[in-house]
Amino acid sequence: MILNKEKECMSRKEIKAIQDERLKWQVKRMYEKVEIFKKRMDERGIKPEDIHGVEDLKKLPFSYKKDLRDYYPYGLFAVPMTDIVRLHASSGTTGKQIVVGYTANDLKIWSECFARQLAAAGGTADDFVQVCYGYGLFTGGLGAHDGATYLGATVIPASTGNTARQIQTMVDFGSTILCSTPSYAMYLAEEIKKQGLVDKIKLKAAICGAEPWTEEMRHQIEETLHIKAYDVYGLSEIMGPGVSYECECQKGMHINEDNFIVEIIDPETGEVLPYGQKGELVFTTLTKEGFPLIRYRTRDICSLNVEPCKCGRTFIRMNKPTGRSDDMLIIRGVNVFPSQIEEVLLKYCSDGITTNYQIEVDRVNNTDTLDVFVEMAPDLFADDMASIERLQKTLEEKIRSALGIGAKVTLVNPNSIARSEGKAKRVIDKRKLA
Ligand SMILES: [Zn+2]
Repeated sequence: MILNKEKECMSRKEIKAIQDERLKWQVKRMYEKVEIFKKRMDERGIKPEDIHGVEDLKKLPFSYKKDLRDYYPYGLFAVPMTDIVRLHASSGTTGKQIVVGYTANDLKIWSECFARQLAAAGGTADDFVQVCYGYGLFTGGLGAHDGATYLGATVIPASTGNTARQIQTMVDFGSTILCSTPSYAMYLAEEIKKQGLVDKIKLKAAICGAEPWTEEMRHQIEETLHIKAYDVYGLSEIMGPGVSYECECQKGMHINEDNFIVEIIDPETGEVLPYGQKGELVFTTLTKEGFPLIRYRTRDICSLNVEPCKCGRTFIRMNKPTGRSDDMLIIRGVNVFPSQIEEVLLKYCSDGITTNYQIEVDRVNNTDTLDVFVEMAPDLFADDMASIERLQKTLEEKIRSALGIGAKVTLVNPNSIARSEGKAKRVIDKRKLA
């Protein structure tokens, strides 16, 4: 179902017209209200009057995650604090937390953006939406919660943790849509199957976001629970989950272009790349009042798809990010994304391994080492040593051909890698500790 046909199915010409107007409005007010933005514009000799539409976007300065730290906490806000009705924060992997603020109108727009995802997944006011993202400063919990409320669905604010209770809630309350990280959806799926409850749940869809996942993982969640699993994208700096959302075609995520302009750039040179090429994702917020950003560099690497979508929505689609330029590991001079390793492992799940793995990078005698620990399924664990070794060898070969560098694969006992009920900690880089 399409929640807001008037917006989601506009002609490209109408989208451009809306973006032009909103960009001019945003640049003008940010120039007046956000000191660093004015300074960067002045340094380039650009005035708000020089921006006539989307085609002038490339004249505008980029903004960076570092800005959020440098102007912490409220230095980038574009309204007086009295107009801010909510704060969210993210700790990030490095250093100080960052904080973002929303006006009442910002929250309303965010709710609709997430509700568009729920509707695209078949959600209506009759659904029971179990939100298993963390509630709190993290945008996941309240973002999904407000989206489901906007839709008029019945929200079950389950938050994270206590898996036994989550499953009982799902069965007893008749949850039909699950919102969670993909790793937790996978974990719930495994548990539900193990307890023989697949036929007892009424789930029809899962909306998964907040961490990278692969197509293989999607298939596993879908097959285990007999549901459809959708990919939702977002980041706190830009809004939260719902910046882009997947439709029933499940071929990329439609970007809410009435609220955001998207660009793909070369992360090295900053040059804008043509549609279809892989590069860094950059967003401009068009309607955000509290905490607007122009040309924000997400560090996410992906490509855009402008082909018309069968669903009827006209918003550009982004492909699943293949990694964050921040998450990228450089091992023996080779760029490695953890998702590449995950993709290999997921192909061998039917051979007796699980999706629970950990990557460990270290430096021994000035050479980088790459270890991949993978949990065995209980049936393989009971198997003979020879078949375990054979599988280890196969995985090592496949990882070598996927990455171009060798890794040591060790299959470990079931449940020996700490399971996270929030975000999965997949990588331990010991080189940073030295
Ligand atoms: Zn579509």
